[in-house]
Amino acid sequence: MGEFDLIRRFFTRPAAAPGVALGVGDDCALLQPTPGMQWAISSDMLVEGRHFFAGTDPRRLGHKALAVNLSDLAACGARPRGFTLALALPEANEAWLQAFAQGLLQLADAHDCPLVGGDTTRGPLNLCVTVFGEVPTGQALLRSGARAGDDLYVSGHLGDARLALEALLGRLRLPQALLQGAQQRLEQPTPRVALGLALRGIASSAIDVSDGLLGDLGHVLRASGTGATVDASIAITLIAVCADSESAKCQFDLDFLRQSALAGGDDYELLFTAPAALRSAVAQAAQACGTAVTRIGRIEAEPGLRLVDAQGQALDAQRYASFDHFG
Ligand code: ADP
Ligand code: MG
Repeated sequence: MGEFDLIRRFFTRPAAAPGVALGVGDDCALLQPTPGMQWAISSDMLVEGRHFFAGTDPRRLGHKALAVNLSDLAACGARPRGFTLALALPEANEAWLQAFAQGLLQLADAHDCPLVGGDTTRGPLNLCVTVFGEVPTGQALLRSGARAGDDLYVSGHLGDARLALEALLGRLRLPQALLQGAQQRLEQPTPRVALGLALRGIASSAIDVSDGLLGDLGHVLRASGTGATVDASIAITLIAVCADSESAKCQFDLDFLRQSALAGGDDYELLFTAPAALRSAVAQAAQACGTAVTRIGRIEAEPGLRLVDAQGQALDAQRYASFDHFG
């Protein structure tokens, strides 16, 4: 199977989406911008051995390659319009490609986000997606908009991906039933696109949690020139595996669970701020798109990140450092 056969068989589909004047097949794709909208564009690369284990289920890998990019659009409150895929493959394995394309294109269809082009080459397995979305001019959610007095929220669950990672690395024993749930969260994250759209005009800032809650919050605080206090006692309630199974909580060191939720990474939830006066608007937006959100703290004028327990006692935030690719 040559390069062009491969592209035709697995990555070319007839369905033309509105706004896609030209998809796969020519030197460029042509996308028609909607008047009054800005493009929101993001790229994310997944490298074997760095972002996923060799032998990861290709269907899940296809899903994740696009999901992490849709998550960036969600964080900006942008609507997906299309994406490109740059793919380096060690070999043209048909079964692998079939499954990979299925996972990728199923998620693409669910978000009306067609594959419009890309590049394919031989090399160590490497997946790079660039996603194109659009947002009404001036309305994108940014990291820089948090203001003192704003509430701080996170969507969905945090920490499960880290528990799965530790288990897969053999550093943690996770009962099979719990591992399955956690591994699903690690390998097939749900991008919070609907929530991002619903938060336009409500949230003052947003970011998606890819490197861990505290680390990603640090980006918001620096960009906004503010500080924050986070209630660490909520952290454990954010871990789905613990919420689903009472026994799970007892199996682990509480501090380890707290660390997984606060610094775990690979969660792809939205971390956002909103004025306290808009609490009911936040609740309505979350309910309308069926995604739970939890208020975990507040933004303050005093720079820095303060972590407190249920009694309001200070905890050492430095102990919960984020996962750093170059660390
Ligand atoms: P060029 O030589 O101009 O770089 P290519 O031969 O690499 O073009 O690609 C031919 C067509 O196939 C282009 O439209 C390109 O966007 C598309 N394409 C290549 N690889 C992929 C892929 N993995 N997924 C989707 N489209 C692809
Ligand atoms: Mg090319």
